[in-house]
Amino acid sequence: MKVEIEDMDVSTICDSVSSLVEGCRLPVHLDGTSDWPLAEIISIKEVQGTKWYYVHFVDFNKRLDEWVTEEALDTRKVHFPRKDLGPGTGVTTPKKQQIGSGINTNVNTSAQTSRPSSPVVSNNSSELLNGNAVLEAVLQKKMNRKRKGPSLESEDSQEGQLSNQQQTPRQSGSMVSHHDDIVTRMKNIDMIELGPHRIKPWYFAPYPQEMVNLSCIYICEFCLKYRKSRKCLERHILKCNLRHPPGNEIYRKDNISFFEIDGRKNKVYAQNLCLLAKLFLDHKTLYYDTDPFLFYVMTVFDHRGFHIVGYFSKEKESTEDYNVACILTLPPFQRKGYGKLLIEFSYELSKFEGKTGSPEKPLSDLGLLSYRSYWAQTILEILLSIKPVGENEKPQLTINEICEMTSIKKEDVISTLQNLNLINYYKGQYIITLSKEIIQQHYKAMENRKIRIDSKALHWTPKDWGKRAKW
Ligand SMILES: [Zn+2]
Repeated sequence: MKVEIEDMDVSTICDSVSSLVEGCRLPVHLDGTSDWPLAEIISIKEVQGTKWYYVHFVDFNKRLDEWVTEEALDTRKVHFPRKDLGPGTGVTTPKKQQIGSGINTNVNTSAQTSRPSSPVVSNNSSELLNGNAVLEAVLQKKMNRKRKGPSLESEDSQEGQLSNQQQTPRQSGSMVSHHDDIVTRMKNIDMIELGPHRIKPWYFAPYPQEMVNLSCIYICEFCLKYRKSRKCLERHILKCNLRHPPGNEIYRKDNISFFEIDGRKNKVYAQNLCLLAKLFLDHKTLYYDTDPFLFYVMTVFDHRGFHIVGYFSKEKESTEDYNVACILTLPPFQRKGYGKLLIEFSYELSKFEGKTGSPEKPLSDLGLLSYRSYWAQTILEILLSIKPVGENEKPQLTINEICEMTSIKKEDVISTLQNLNLINYYKGQYIITLSKEIIQQHYKAMENRKIRIDSKALHWTPKDWGKRAKW
C-alpha cells in the first residue's frame, strides 16, 4: 500500500512536468535565495534535449524573470491556466488580464518599503485608507478654488479630471506602455559590455534580431553603437573619435558633466541611448522618432574621457509640464547618489525656465523611490531654512512659495507633505509640524548627498521650442 502511494506521487510529479504549459503558475526557486515564490511560466523552450522555462515571479518586479530548468520547479502545486482563457500558450493567453496582473503585482511588491509605485496620484488612494481623506479633499478643493475661481462646477469637473488621471496612466504622452505580447515580456539580451562594465539587462529591448542570441553585446561607451563581438568593437574604437557624448556640454563641476543632445540633430546617438536605456526600464516604449526630445546625459570624467553614468530625456515642448520623460542611472552607478543628481539637475533646468515640472508617469518602482526621497529632502531643506518674520512668530510659507523655490509641481509638494505626515490642522488652520525624528532623519540623509548640483556651473539658456517652425 505504502509503495503504491509513493509510486503515485512520482507519477504525478512526472506528469506535471510534461503537462506544464505557458500560463501555469507554481512555486519556483528564486535564484540566490532559499525561497520558492509563486511564478508564472511565460515561455518554454527545448535546447539539446533540456527543457527551459521562462518564469515571472508573480509578486516581484519583472527584472527577476529568468530561464530555469525543471529542478527549480515545484510541480506539486501547479495552477493550470483556465481553459476559457485559451490554451495557455502565452501568445494566446488573454493579454488584458496579463497586463493587469503583471503590472499591478510588480508595482505593489517591488517597492516594499514604500507605498505602491505609481504616480503620486496613487498615493492619494492609499492616503484615503490611512485616514487622510478629509485633509486630502480639503486641500484639493483649496487648490482648485485658487486655480479655478469659486465656481463649484469647475471644482467638481476638476476633481473628476484628476481622478481619471489617477486611474489610467496617460497614453498620449511621449512614452506609451508596451503591448504586453510574449516577445516584449521576455528579456532578449543576456549581457552587455559597456566600457569596463559587464551588465546583465533587466528587461526586453528591441535590438535588431542578429544581436539577440549572442552571449554578450559590446557597446561603445562614447557613441553607444553596438557590436557583435569584442573584436568588432575594437575595430570600431580605432575609428571612433568620440570621447564624450555628442551635443553641448552645458554643465561641469569637478568630474561631473552634463551634455545636452538634440534628438533631431543626433538621431543615431539618441536612438542608441534609448535602446540601451530600455534594457533597464520597464513599461516604457521608446519612440524611434527622437526628434521631439532633448537628452541630458550625465558623465564622469577621467583620463580616458567622459563616461556615461545616466541620463534623462525631456520633451522639447510638454503640454503637461513634464520636465522628464525617461530617467535612468545605469546599474553599475546606482546607489551612489547619481539618481538624485539627475533629478536635481532636471529641476535646475526647470528653475532656469521659470516653471514647475513633474516627471512623466508611470515612473518605474526605483524611479518613484528616488523621486519621493528627492522631494522630501528638497522640501525639508527649505522648511528648515526659513526664518520667522518677527520675534515669537512661527515661520510662514505657502505651498506656492515652495513650488517657486524648488520648481516641484504643486501636486508633488502636497503629496510629499502628506506622505511625511507633516500637515496638521490646528485652531482653524493648517500647520506644518516637524518632529525631532524627522529632522534627525533628514540631516542623516543629507550627509549621504555629498554631490550636489551647483547652479553656477550650469551654462544654459532655455529655448522656446514653440516659437520655432520646426524643431
Ligand atoms: Zn563609438
